[in-house]
Amino acid sequence: STADLSVVPESLRSFLGTPKQLLIDGRWVDAKSGKQFDVYDPATDQVVARVAEGDAADVDAAVSAARRAFDSGPWSKMTASDRGRLIWKVGELIEQNADQLAALETIDNGKPFGVAKAADVALAADMFRYMAGWATKIEGNTIPLNVPYAPGREFHAFTLKEPIGVVGQIIPWNFPLLMAAWKLGPALATGCTVVLKPAEQTPLSALRLGELLLEAGIPDGVVNIVTGFGETAGAAIASHDDVDKVAFTGSTEVGKLIIGAATGNLKKVTLELGGKSPNVVYDDADLDLAIAGAADAIFFNQGQVCSAGSRLYVQNGIYEDVVAGVSEIAKNLKVGSGFDAGTQMGPLVSREQFNRVTGYLQAGIAEGAEASAGGAAIDGAGYFVQPTVLKNATGDMSIVREEIFGPVVAAMPFRDDSEIVGKANQSAYGLAAGIWTRDVSKAHRLAKAVKAGTVWINCYSIFDAALPFGGYKQSGWGREMGHAALENYLQTKSVCLSL
Ligand code: ADP
Repeated sequence: STADLSVVPESLRSFLGTPKQLLIDGRWVDAKSGKQFDVYDPATDQVVARVAEGDAADVDAAVSAARRAFDSGPWSKMTASDRGRLIWKVGELIEQNADQLAALETIDNGKPFGVAKAADVALAADMFRYMAGWATKIEGNTIPLNVPYAPGREFHAFTLKEPIGVVGQIIPWNFPLLMAAWKLGPALATGCTVVLKPAEQTPLSALRLGELLLEAGIPDGVVNIVTGFGETAGAAIASHDDVDKVAFTGSTEVGKLIIGAATGNLKKVTLELGGKSPNVVYDDADLDLAIAGAADAIFFNQGQVCSAGSRLYVQNGIYEDVVAGVSEIAKNLKVGSGFDAGTQMGPLVSREQFNRVTGYLQAGIAEGAEASAGGAAIDGAGYFVQPTVLKNATGDMSIVREEIFGPVVAAMPFRDDSEIVGKANQSAYGLAAGIWTRDVSKAHRLAKAVKAGTVWINCYSIFDAALPFGGYKQSGWGREMGHAALENYLQTKSVCLSL
């Protein structure tokens, strides 16, 4: 059945009411196959929109448009200053449309409206503005040479930083607009052109962003958006011979498929994958802060965060207190529709994700973990599960080893410094880590020892457009955000001239 849209702003009802198309070469078009798919509101399990189902043929058209815009211009012919100005404008338009974009995230992903507006939308606007500034600051080096077999000869050598070309960007459903911004920002700043594929669960905000890109004056073909499924549209992007680079955010499993698909033309690959991040509470921590922080680290965004603090390690003496504190918060979290005032946790994104998370809850309890809060689904329509704390967890359990991607934390005690380093690093992943202590030396020692791309000390889930983010080990290749993100989209050309 179709959802009741009375909760959404008037201007969005017409957006949702018209079938959503693909953005190819500056125009909105149907999929060549004519196919469409349904998009659901995860709070009600009802259809809210119909979206074009792009596949390989549409990806082909999108890649051709991106290739033209890259090779012949206008994008490649434009000054960096003009490019930066347009990117800045995208940030401004996102901010001006914040309510609408946040509402789209709530309908499509389920997250609370207030969170979507304050975090997802604000960070997305910031990302474009941050990257707009970089457009004019991409510089090579001059390099003194000492060529051993050319004594006495003088050279003038320098590097040029050039955009890599046409990039494919495949993004997930947990932060739909923000992930588009993380991807598009550095691609546009460096002068690349893009074929973007939003997740099939959450294509709506990217499509609204596509309208804003056109409104900002981003030229035709520079950003093409192909909605569709992973095995068809996504795979076609990853394997396309005329795509120079693919940037992917999603599961480690699919990340490995992307690498395989990219081997045909050896396109460059960057990956932001899964995590199972340790969050470590020492007995000298500010306990109120640490308990609230540990709860937020796992329940933020319904736990659907690749860097979620899903392995909670608490020093022996305070283990019971911290588990009790986090459990108390979990029991009192207001779970409901993202549009209800006061909702702190929304539904999971999809039926599939709901089944996956509840499957882990059952497995964890069967393996011997004990739920000190939650532990089950919430009855009724929508994909709601209880915020859950599982204690008596051990390192061999699936709930400790595997990424659940839901509001489920596994709590375990640890003895001392010498033990926690090994435990924290006992994972195939290495995306993030949290440390709670008043002892700065202890904090810095563990921060150095932990194999993770981001370490938060006495805080968690702090993201900024300027701060690089990415993974060690099976959490990925490359970094997003900050100056580091630009490198993913640039080639270095060395030019050597004999004087
Ligand atoms: P999740 O399991 O959390 O849904 P996925 O890694 O499956 O995450 O999805 C992330 C993105 O990757 C989505 O846009 C999805 O459509 C896409 N995707 C899934 N499978 C493939 C694939 N085989 N090739 C390319 N993209 C894919």
